[in-house]
Amino acid sequence: MTARPLPTRDAIHRIRPYRPGKPLQEVERELGITGAVKLASNENPLGPSPAALAAMRAAAPEVAFYPEDTCHTLKRALAAHVDLPEECLFLGNGSDEVLHSAALTYLNPGDNTVMAVPSFVMYETDTLVADAEPRQVPVRDFLHDLPAMLDRTDERTRLFFVCNPNNPTGTYLSHSDIADLLDRLPDTCLLVFDEAYYEYADAPDYPCALDFVRQGRSILVTRTFSKIYALAGLRIGYGMARPDIIQALQQTRPPFNVNSLAQAAAEASLADDTQVTRSRECNQAAKTYLSEAFQERGVAFVPTQANFMFVDTARDARRVGEEMLRRGVVIRVGDWIFAYPTYLRVTLGTPAQNRRFIEAFDAARSALPQWREPSVAAGTAA
Ligand code: PMP
Repeated sequence: MTARPLPTRDAIHRIRPYRPGKPLQEVERELGITGAVKLASNENPLGPSPAALAAMRAAAPEVAFYPEDTCHTLKRALAAHVDLPEECLFLGNGSDEVLHSAALTYLNPGDNTVMAVPSFVMYETDTLVADAEPRQVPVRDFLHDLPAMLDRTDERTRLFFVCNPNNPTGTYLSHSDIADLLDRLPDTCLLVFDEAYYEYADAPDYPCALDFVRQGRSILVTRTFSKIYALAGLRIGYGMARPDIIQALQQTRPPFNVNSLAQAAAEASLADDTQVTRSRECNQAAKTYLSEAFQERGVAFVPTQANFMFVDTARDARRVGEEMLRRGVVIRVGDWIFAYPTYLRVTLGTPAQNRRFIEAFDAARSALPQWREPSVAAGTAA
């Protein structure tokens, strides 16, 4: 039976589907190889804290019951960790859900949002789902172009997204940049400050965004347990803001949105400094190793504050990605291809994974002609 497609909301047709990195098992099956390496989704190669795994095992028998809806015990631990009152915290099914809730809470049809491009793609999707208009402003020298973004901001701009450090470029804005931005934004606009990679950032002038929350500014800071805490598969992230903003977000939150294993693992992770320190050290070592390797080869890359690097292959990056995939190394090329067609994004891995990446990178570059022509002008997102 061929059913006629059902009518959908118009917004559905404008949404670009999110393309997650290919799972390793799928790559290995397709290529008929083993030992492939995935450096495509900015996951933590060291894995979660043993304490988190133990907490999950202990919580497992309880999965017949719905989870604690308010994340009561986790919230208490998190409040102590970030030094904010519990009423300033919102827990989500990944920070993705916090961003989605912000869009559902603050956007009416006819409103708009402002964001950089390339940046995290869900800002655009969440805006479209809420029937609002995403205004994408090309980055300048790989950085959010705040003056240009402010030029696109008007009285119908409800959300202004800043990804810090920015995915995929790894660049960051400083504390004074953000202080200045908050002074300039209209008072009807919420600054959504996405710090998914916060724990990796170490620049001395990196923002203390929670100071702005404590000052009662209109800012929602989002963070996640998916990256340094290595709990991506559990889906848990959080937002921090003034209590009135948190209360508004609660209106759009589905019940029981954070599962019980995630709550248990996140709480245990917060208590394990060792895992965080080891992960930072591993990341720093990878950054040094890859920076030197790129320098030796005369390859341009963007200095990063995150757990990934944005690298100029000086070739058609899509073809570089295919060549590397054939050699069992999965990296990311894609959403930014319209602006940076020669760039790939690689997640910083273990020493062995990084060496493997460089081998495949060298082989792919040797196999392909130099190529610099952008296929489409920067900033015109397809
Ligand atoms: N923000 C940024 C910048 C990201 O890169 C990601 C995931 N890759 C997220 C938010 C969402 O992360 P999660 O839902 O796993 O917390």
